[in-house]
Amino acid sequence: MLSTMQDYPLLVSGILRHGQSVYGDSRIRTIVSPEGDAVEATFTEVAERAERLARALGRLGIGDSDRVATFLWNNQAHLEAYLAVPAMGAVLHTLNLRLFPEQLAYIINHAEDQVIICNASIAGLLGEVRDEIPTVRHIIVVGEGDTSALGDTLDYEELLAAEEPGYDWPQFDERQAAAMCYTSGTTGNPKGVVYSHRSTYLHTMAITAGSSLGISERDSVLSIVPMFHANAWGTPYAAFMTGADLIMPQQYLQAAPLAAIINRHRPTVSAGVPTIWSDLLRYAQTNTVDMSSLRMITAGGAAVPRLLIERFRDEMGVEMVQGWGMTETSPLCSLATPPRQAAPAEEIEWRVKAGRIVPGVEVRICDDDGSVLANDGVAVGEFEVRGPWITGSYYGDPSEDRFHDGWLRTGDIGSFDGQGYMQISDRSKDVIKSGGEWISSVELENEVMAHPDVIEAAVIAVPDDRWSERPLAAVVLEEGSTTTPDDLVAFLADRVSKWWVPERWSIIDEVPKTSVGKFDKKVLRARYAAGALDVVEVDLTAGG
Ligand code: ADP
Repeated sequence: MLSTMQDYPLLVSGILRHGQSVYGDSRIRTIVSPEGDAVEATFTEVAERAERLARALGRLGIGDSDRVATFLWNNQAHLEAYLAVPAMGAVLHTLNLRLFPEQLAYIINHAEDQVIICNASIAGLLGEVRDEIPTVRHIIVVGEGDTSALGDTLDYEELLAAEEPGYDWPQFDERQAAAMCYTSGTTGNPKGVVYSHRSTYLHTMAITAGSSLGISERDSVLSIVPMFHANAWGTPYAAFMTGADLIMPQQYLQAAPLAAIINRHRPTVSAGVPTIWSDLLRYAQTNTVDMSSLRMITAGGAAVPRLLIERFRDEMGVEMVQGWGMTETSPLCSLATPPRQAAPAEEIEWRVKAGRIVPGVEVRICDDDGSVLANDGVAVGEFEVRGPWITGSYYGDPSEDRFHDGWLRTGDIGSFDGQGYMQISDRSKDVIKSGGEWISSVELENEVMAHPDVIEAAVIAVPDDRWSERPLAAVVLEEGSTTTPDDLVAFLADRVSKWWVPERWSIIDEVPKTSVGKFDKKVLRARYAAGALDVVEVDLTAGG
């Protein structure tokens, strides 16, 4: 028996129309200076400009399922593209501004982008690949700047000004492609993930749900995570759908301008990778940053150090919520909010986990031969996920080894408990197997970073004659610190098992970062292999 319910498709145009008709007065502010000056527009204006954009793209020949790419900072034009491109039935492709030219050309060609909307300020970066992307017929430039590297371009504002507002958004199958995003390709070429209208709509509802971020009209969302990094974790759509104000920082992502933005614009919610938050916290030691407007900040994309969560709580009075997800999962899968029975003193034990799965996502762990393991919080295996906003394949790339009986294999290793909390110990490519036993690099990093003089610490596996692999800790110290590897070894003594303590240490100026600001352990491993790391060996037997 089928239901009597209307089979009404879940489309991005539904998000657009709801924000436009119900929350027309809500605002997006695009930051235009390091001091936090902003250009403002209402949702009514944004929606109208999205209509004009769709008309302009149609006039350029963009039709059903054609790819329109963005090479943009987080700003108003980017939001307009987020809304207009999928709503008209075309496919939005968000390009990562920090890719190497070869990878950038690869993903543009692989997706067969026809139009790219580009910020003038970064025209030079796109210019480097202009001659290698034959499918791109038009480049539309937003803002002022030297665009000579791009050859012929169109001006975004002129295109919009030439159109009338109003657009009859079409209805189509909700499973149609809405947007695509490529993973950063740590091994081999990047892989394309194609989001559907349905997955985007449901993910947006999930972000706004009370059991997750609870974004609503009462919020003002500072979206630090780039719109090319897994949809800025869904914040743009969530804000537009619920009438939350949006603050878009463009290229002003360093601690000082972020502090100015927070002081001036008083966001209530924000999202970013842990490195951004630790930079901001360090800046706040010597500068005034008023974070009292923030009801919560989310951190994810990499393990969030315990000390970071504690310091935001104790020094800034801000609740930091860790989340876990991937480009492949839209990305929201879990959020580390403590269970209701947790006593205040215990809450931190839950917050340091990768998160508790949100409704709509199913998680399990499997061992090497594919058997499903118990959700007992003890068994350790690879996380697999499934659900309506989890990818079931990669675009034009079978990668069958990444899927298992309809579940996505995440490459993350850890345990899962009976209350839905995920504890991640490592990515499979980062695991350290010492004498046949696993050492969690994530946990070791956490403990090293708990030392007051340590700014950043990344732990990698290095070959070892006796144990086959041992951890090496690469550490960034506070300026002027006299802490030595011996001191750090002593510090770890009662914090981790004795055999976990690294004997190899390297004091470095900065941990190399990926294009989205995560620790790049691949680069560290390569440096070590090339003998380019200064390594100090501590005698762990000394002092018993
Ligand atoms: P990339 O491969 O460039 O890192 P993604 O942003 O899609 O691209 O990364 C997803 C991965 O980030 C996850 O598979 C996981 O390894 C890591 N990750 C995300 N959130 C967390 C978290 N809270 N704790 C530990 N790892 C995380």
